[in-house]
Amino acid sequence: MLVAVLTTEPLGRALDYRAPPGGCFVGAFVEVPLGPRRVMGVVWGPGEGGFDPAKIRPVGRVLDAAPMGDAMRAFLMRAADYTLTPMPAMLRLATRAPGLADPPGPRRVYRRGRGEPDRMTDARARVMDVLDEYGGAAFNLGELAALAGVSTSVVKGLVKQGAVAEEDAPRDLPYPRLDPGLPGKALAEDQAAAAERLRAAVASARYGTTLLKGVTGSGKTEVYLEAVAECLRQGRQALVLLPEIALTAEFLSRVEDRFGARPGEWHSGVTQTERRRLWRMAGEGGVGLVVGARSALFLPFRDLGLIVVDEEHDTSYKQEDGALYNARDMAVLRASLCDAQVVLASATPCLETWVNAEAGKYARIDLTSRFGTAELPEMRAIDMRAEKLETNRWISPTLAAAVRARIEGGEQALLFLNRRGYAPVTICRACGHQIGCDHCDARMVEHRFLKRLVCHQCGETKPMPETCPSCGAAGRLAPVGPGVERLAEEVAERFPDARVAVLSSDLFASARALKEKIAEIAGGGADIIIGTQLVAKGHNFPLLTLVGVIDADLGLQGSDLRAAERTFQLMRQVSGRAGRSERPGVALLQTCQPEHPVIRAILSGEEEAFWRAEAAERQAAGMPPFGRLAGIVLSSPDVQGVFDFGNELARRDAPLRRIGAQVFGPAPAPIARVRGRHRVRLLVKAAKGVALQPALADWVGQLRPPANLRVSIDIDPQSFW
Ligand SMILES: [Zn+2]
Ligand SMILES: [Zn+2]
Repeated sequence: MLVAVLTTEPLGRALDYRAPPGGCFVGAFVEVPLGPRRVMGVVWGPGEGGFDPAKIRPVGRVLDAAPMGDAMRAFLMRAADYTLTPMPAMLRLATRAPGLADPPGPRRVYRRGRGEPDRMTDARARVMDVLDEYGGAAFNLGELAALAGVSTSVVKGLVKQGAVAEEDAPRDLPYPRLDPGLPGKALAEDQAAAAERLRAAVASARYGTTLLKGVTGSGKTEVYLEAVAECLRQGRQALVLLPEIALTAEFLSRVEDRFGARPGEWHSGVTQTERRRLWRMAGEGGVGLVVGARSALFLPFRDLGLIVVDEEHDTSYKQEDGALYNARDMAVLRASLCDAQVVLASATPCLETWVNAEAGKYARIDLTSRFGTAELPEMRAIDMRAEKLETNRWISPTLAAAVRARIEGGEQALLFLNRRGYAPVTICRACGHQIGCDHCDARMVEHRFLKRLVCHQCGETKPMPETCPSCGAAGRLAPVGPGVERLAEEVAERFPDARVAVLSSDLFASARALKEKIAEIAGGGADIIIGTQLVAKGHNFPLLTLVGVIDADLGLQGSDLRAAERTFQLMRQVSGRAGRSERPGVALLQTCQPEHPVIRAILSGEEEAFWRAEAAERQAAGMPPFGRLAGIVLSSPDVQGVFDFGNELARRDAPLRRIGAQVFGPAPAPIARVRGRHRVRLLVKAAKGVALQPALADWVGQLRPPANLRVSIDIDPQSFW
């Protein structure tokens, strides 16, 4: 008997193998020989045959893991079709845990012991720090040593002294049961009604998507946790996706308060041992609730009944490399294949979601009142044309006075600037040269904290040169414009007695360090917080009563389809940080164009009017969500070759014309060179409802790209870089 086995190797299709004696289930995880190696795969169906049976190799062994269910396999296939991703790459997304092929049985783990080291060295202190940071988690030896940056003998030494315990632990234990019967938080009236609707939807055990819309602080989390409770009562599994690791610390304790135990966690900060355990328990039903980043959507849940996508508008749900998918859309697809409910939670939903709710495709629940006594902050523009500002200063006198008043009142102020580093541009005052990246079409950004210039496209760094690389003049290089680090300098000069905290992702070595800083600020450990968009994401700062947006016009520049939508969302999110507890808040937006429709919509708070206007504009232009787009980026070190290929593709557009789609380009991509590769972009625009993906596959499939040329297809692109 032959079976077709899909592996993660880039072969393009499943391969035939001889089934083990007694056969095996479709969906079984198996180990198969491939050339000289043994690789893991999934039995995808009956084999095709048609080969010399003597040449067909047998399946090595069936792994001790729950077989992949029909709904999961259907999901991977549909997701592959939708995103035009090869199946092996989809399977890779679904098996991203280490040691899945390892046999069961106990394993040796290391955790904090009862003893103390007799003598503390630097290396030992680092091991103890890691153990404390991960709060009781168990590690394998290599992992613990690597995280601490020490050799395994340091860990072994600590074991001898009892400071580290070495144990044989059973592998992959189920997670503690979450108890939906524990009392939840007291809900306000509109919250209770919303929770009731979501509970009923979950109890129906049918597919459906609900937009749960509520301003920041309206208590969306308490509401959707009640949907989770219902899902657990039904004996099904729930998944909560969050956009940002930094959110999970606060979130996990809320889950624990509600259900008496912690959920499974899936993100980059989770240990390898835990990843394997969670992957297996998802398949066996040994975990009730998983909280994770976008890739958690590809865990092999046995019976998924609910997916919550929190902050559904967040751009981090779009995977921008490798398999290009949007976790929000894939959550809807997955749920529709397994009779699950989706809750899309946001204060500022993306336009697609808003339109789907308007059209009745999604249900919509609005939470209007802020939970507790807090009010929405008052929002005002500061017209920068009327403010007197010295050179290289960015805080207007009006904003500075407001900040001073807050500090004197023992409250906190947040200054928001969505630019990392010290200065976005370094220019030579002698010749006008701007320092760019050697590999990209991008300017290098000065990071004074790191004492280097950094390319935000490719990550390349170099020291700040002493002399101009173009004209050789010494001492003439000067920073232009502000980043958060430079803003911090201005703040330190103007408010010398204030305690200042800068929150920017590049200033923290680990997600945990960032979490600690956030907790410290929330506890009153800073007077002025300076932050990038990192601060827009759900952190609770009870003393924060003033938000000052340094440059509200920043996001409105550029030609991105979503510029207006993004600015609107970001400004609302950031402003919503102010006045979340009993003290009322104010948000002040520094702008040079207070009459701009987006700025006016933000200030007036007339959200629905903004969405309607934005939707009408997109509809008139046939742009998403009223039409379909696909971005094709060709990249190659060979600039001529990449344009030639792009032109040839554009010329052979018959498969696209057949569905009435149009091709635009090739044109240099907005960022025309990244890591030494030239980038050329084509844009395909089609009407809604046509079969876009098969046409794209036929179209691109006509030409074989040269070896050094990469073709990446982005369905429903979110950004145009
Ligand atoms: Zn120069
Ligand atoms: Zn670069």
